[in-house]
Amino acid sequence: MILAGGSSTRMGGISKQQYRLLGVPVAVHTLRAFERCKQCAEIIIVSKADECTLYEQYAKEYGLTKIKCVLPGGSTRQESAFLGLKGVSADSDFIAIHDAARCLITPEQITNVFLTAMRTDCATAACPATDTVKFVSSKGKTETDGQPERSKLWNMQTPQIFYTDLYRAAAYTAREDGFAATDDCSLLEHVGFGCTVVDCGRENIKITTPVDLLLAEAILKEREKGAEQ
Ligand code: C5P
Repeated sequence: MILAGGSSTRMGGISKQQYRLLGVPVAVHTLRAFERCKQCAEIIIVSKADECTLYEQYAKEYGLTKIKCVLPGGSTRQESAFLGLKGVSADSDFIAIHDAARCLITPEQITNVFLTAMRTDCATAACPATDTVKFVSSKGKTETDGQPERSKLWNMQTPQIFYTDLYRAAAYTAREDGFAATDDCSLLEHVGFGCTVVDCGRENIKITTPVDLLLAEAILKEREKGAEQ
């Protein structure tokens, strides 16, 4: 399930899913990685309502064959993922939930997270934190107690991959409990399941602010150069 329903409020008016990197929309870079991953059987896109029809065009233009349906998203990421569940086949074993905005993910990394989920039911792309992260009070001061140790901190990324029935149960429970989260592992944690982290490195960035576009394009150019050599 590719989540592309965000309104890109931190992008200064650009729709980040549709922004072209090396001439190709961000969402298409993402879709291509899943298209090329052999564990992925079908793709559900959760889109902004006014962008739903674009994906049919992309499927034709870029030869994407795994798109099963495109559904309109909700007002939060969590709501969009919940709405996307309607498109999931009844016989699905594992579901991968991925931010369309993480367009640098590779098919090999997706496979690594899939294989880990097959072993442990719940797995997530992530990378160890390199910055020191602190709790800061509402007055803008660092807290003096209970600061997290960097060696135990990881940045959560996507894909996050789960045994489908488990994910469905966790998503419905979160909804019933009014539990809000910014990623899907949190939904599993809410019902008592930890997720295994798979280091996918620091290149698996999420396009969030305009500077991320510069970084993503530079990384894609390097990869193209590498592929030509
Ligand atoms: O807002 P954030 O950067 O956390 O969004 C992560 C991903 O979730 C993006 O790919 C975005 O398009 C998607 N999203 C969504 N529906 C929303 C908000 C975000 O599908 N309402």
